[in-house]
Amino acid sequence: MTPQTTHVFHRHLHTTLPVAVSGRGVTITDSQGRQYIDASGGAAVSCLGHGHPDVLAAMHAQIDRIAYAHTSFFTTEVAEALADDLIAHAPTGMSHAYFVSGGSEAVEAALKMARQYFVEIGQPQRSHFIARRQSYHGNTLGALAVGGNQWRRAQFAPLLMDVTHVSPCYEYRDRRPDETAEQYGQRLVLELAQAIDRLGGENVIAFVAETVVGATAGALTPVPGYLKGVRDLCDRHGILLILDEVMCGMGRTGTLHACEQEGVVPDLMTIAKGLGGGYQPIGAVLAQKRIVDTFAKGSGLFQHGHTYLGHAVACAAALAVQQVIRRDDLLAACRRQGEGLANRLQQRLGEHPHVGDLRGRGLFRGIELVRDRATKTPFDPALRLHARIKREAMTRGLMVYPMGGTIDGQQGDHVLLAPPFTVSEADLDAIVDRLAQAIDAAL
Ligand code: PLP
Repeated sequence: MTPQTTHVFHRHLHTTLPVAVSGRGVTITDSQGRQYIDASGGAAVSCLGHGHPDVLAAMHAQIDRIAYAHTSFFTTEVAEALADDLIAHAPTGMSHAYFVSGGSEAVEAALKMARQYFVEIGQPQRSHFIARRQSYHGNTLGALAVGGNQWRRAQFAPLLMDVTHVSPCYEYRDRRPDETAEQYGQRLVLELAQAIDRLGGENVIAFVAETVVGATAGALTPVPGYLKGVRDLCDRHGILLILDEVMCGMGRTGTLHACEQEGVVPDLMTIAKGLGGGYQPIGAVLAQKRIVDTFAKGSGLFQHGHTYLGHAVACAAALAVQQVIRRDDLLAACRRQGEGLANRLQQRLGEHPHVGDLRGRGLFRGIELVRDRATKTPFDPALRLHARIKREAMTRGLMVYPMGGTIDGQQGDHVLLAPPFTVSEADLDAIVDRLAQAIDAAL
């Protein structure tokens, strides 16, 4: 499909996309019969791969019963069942799931839920969010405002609410040689504390962060104790902690929620992507009981909503995805294959002169590319190395999720890998082999 022969307003208007005609397991096939290993799960979405029979059967069964019932008139059995399932496996104290259609909607809903919570409890002066520079929380205006990616924000900046951005937790680049990882984490907490003091703690609604940073930085993991320090600080000021697990959550890092590995429980948590595994568009905000109780005892209405909240077929797909993950012990598979992927990357790319950092958890792995390993100098952004790697990978039948270096010229291009939890050893061999070839061809 060339740009001249389509009426779809594609996101890229200067490229010609292959036409995906079928997907089975980790493989997508295009209309020319070419096959691609989906090593990124699209954008860390397809946790079960494509065409999973159990998910398709659950969706068919739901369509036969009822596909859609507006949430101002009805609830559905399947939405109730999915919420029960999510809450049964949620971090301590979470009591309700608010369903939406994707990640950005989940973040928007969480921001508004947090604001309304403070209005309900008589603290309407709280009107400010704090987030981090190296982050992506979605493309709608509220989500974009809390996001810190300059490239995504720049032309829309006049439309965005005022958000304070503090440093990300980016150990590879920002930990000083004289600091331990823990000391570095505490320095970041101190920076956040100073930002809160400048704003006045009583004016801040929430601190928003991805537990493991995905799209803007390629699987940046927090250093030990950092998020715990953030949690304590938020508690001291009555500030809510919103963890955005749209990309890193729902098993991707080897535990259902990435925050489990930090021993931190958020007040609100956003999930999407792996929740429905790509079978249907669905996201959710998981909320602490005291927040939901406040709404219930107060106005009785969360003043927000979309037409497709809790769509029955989307809920059926998500419920089936979660059931398959548990039945087939796929969190263990994610941890095991994640180690296998990390080892292969280390063996094949660990000494590569332009690989600065290999990082991540589970089947969520990032590779940061640099011009100079010793100085960590990134490639010139004008080279668009990440885009070249993506092209070279596609010609080798491999889907990866690359992103350019965008933070004050201080970040290298990176590639994110997030294959389905069902990925085999042979698939992992092929992924790393083709990726290494694609990187060399792109350089
Ligand atoms: N939050 C995070 C952490 C994400 O990675 C993304 C998408 O990549 C979003 C929110 C936005 O999700 P969506 O693209 O489904 O709107």
